[in-house]
Amino acid sequence: MRLREMLPSECSILISEQRVARLGCCRDNQPYVVPIYYIRAEGQIFSFSMPGRKIEFMRSNPLVCVEIEHSTDQHRWKCVIIEGRYREFHEGTEKKHAWGILNVYNDWWEPGALNWGADEKPPGYLPIFFAISMDKVTGREALAS
Ligand SMILES: Cc1cc2nc3c(=O)[nH]c(=O)nc-3n(C[C@H](O)[C@H](O)[C@H](O)COP(=O)(O)OP(=O)(O)OC[C@H]3O[C@@H](n4cnc5c(N)ncnc54)[C@H](O)[C@@H]3O)c2cc1C
Repeated sequence: MRLREMLPSECSILISEQRVARLGCCRDNQPYVVPIYYIRAEGQIFSFSMPGRKIEFMRSNPLVCVEIEHSTDQHRWKCVIIEGRYREFHEGTEKKHAWGILNVYNDWWEPGALNWGADEKPPGYLPIFFAISMDKVTGREALAS
């Protein structure tokens, strides 16, 4: 097995192709890592969440790290690590925009279960929508030979 650095364009393809990421956040020197679904759009990572620990962490410290990977077997994998900043969407138009991006995959978990039309008020249990900037991106690939 050998390792190589991925080109920025290769990192970009992997981020666009995958849907599951590990989101790392940190508060008071305590790291916390959770899997999330995401969509890459407009040069950012878009996702959503109900209120909970990760949202509390990221509101407290918006500097986060995102890991995305794809492995064929233990000797062949690609992995990208992104360092960025959490930004929560507060305005209704921003939330609808983010929801529209995430709702592309309408079999998704919470957003897919929502039926929020353009002229309707959002339901009370609407998730928190957020984006993570991609300030630093590195990628490594393991090759079988
Ligand atoms: C493939 C996949 C995709 C997911 N996509 C999303 C998504 O897009 N958005 C989203 O909000 N959530 C997603 N989840 C669920 C997510 O991983 C969290 O479980 C959930 O969001 C709750 O996180 P929280 O920080 O609000 O935890 P809280 O509900 O506040 O949880 C409190 C405690 O519960 C424990 N806990 C929380 N989540 C997990 C977990 N997954 N495994 C083990 N222990 C846990 C931790 O110890 C945590 O401190 C996904 C999970 C998987 C497996």
